[in-house]
Amino acid sequence: AKEAGRARMTLYDPAMDADREERNALELDLRMAIEGGDLTLVYQPLIDAASHEMVGVEALVRWNRPGHGPVSPEVFIPVAETSGLIEALGLFVLRKACETVKQWPELRIAVNVSPGQFRNPAFADYVRYVLRQADIEPKRVTLEVTEGYMIQNPQRTRQAIERLKTLGIKIALDDFGSGFSSIGYLRQFGFDRIKIDRSLVMDIQESDSQREMLQATVALARSLDIPVTAEGIETEEQAIAVRLFGCDTLQGYFFGRPMPAEKITELVLEARG
Ligand code: C2E
Ligand code: CA
Ligand code: CA
Ligand code: CA
Repeated sequence: AKEAGRARMTLYDPAMDADREERNALELDLRMAIEGGDLTLVYQPLIDAASHEMVGVEALVRWNRPGHGPVSPEVFIPVAETSGLIEALGLFVLRKACETVKQWPELRIAVNVSPGQFRNPAFADYVRYVLRQADIEPKRVTLEVTEGYMIQNPQRTRQAIERLKTLGIKIALDDFGSGFSSIGYLRQFGFDRIKIDRSLVMDIQESDSQREMLQATVALARSLDIPVTAEGIETEEQAIAVRLFGCDTLQGYFFGRPMPAEKITELVLEARG
């Protein structure tokens, strides 16, 4: 199979060339967008399950690629990861999110962090620096990480998380239930919150087994004595179910789509009355 692979690589494949060219162009455009500050952030409400009040927001990055239109972060984050751009992108997002949330003292802010950022031993230092510069209390900031990198590098991950937690920052495990986490294994990282993946919430109306799967996953997360957020809530029925199963925070289109900062400000002002 190895031989065949090597042979195949030497064959001229115009489609592969085109792919590579497009990828290079995307990477260049992304580099310019980061350097030019052309990425933007939108904010999705995090809702308290009991009071239905907005208690925080998750920052999500957006890129309107010139001549192409919006590109999904599911597409350009992986490109940033493999091309050395993720640190600059992550720094931009963190700084922008912290500066923005200052105008909403009643809200906490969740920011997604990529494995490529975690890998830098100085990550905790630069997070502290950004928070100081923005003059924001660390306890209002949650960094969301997925489990992929932790499984490869449990040692380093544990160290990074420990340092961040010493600063007072909260760490959430994102996309729980979409991978292969063993619960005993996750215990050692000291997560402050677990976010249940949207894929588990999606089909509970149609299928009892899906509903049971969701319930079991929330129960598993809760067995660690860690607060649980459910994401991807699109219907009232889903909201009721996940609250019943024990999630204390809800997120999804049913409560609010990711929106520009000005919209969040409007909601905050409304809530203040
Ligand atoms: P995620 O962290 O799991 O973020 C949740 C995603 O689900 C967001 O997609 C959000 O718009 C979407 N979503 C929220 N509620 C609903 C719902 O009710 N229904 C449906 N169908 N979708 C919902 P988005 O913004 O496209 O982001 C996709 C992923 O890209 C994120 O998944 C995250 O992994 C990554 N990402 C986004 N922004 C950043 C960032 O600033 N830094 C890093 N490292 N990753 C980011
Ligand atoms: Ca997230
Ligand atoms: Ca997620
Ligand atoms: Ca996700």
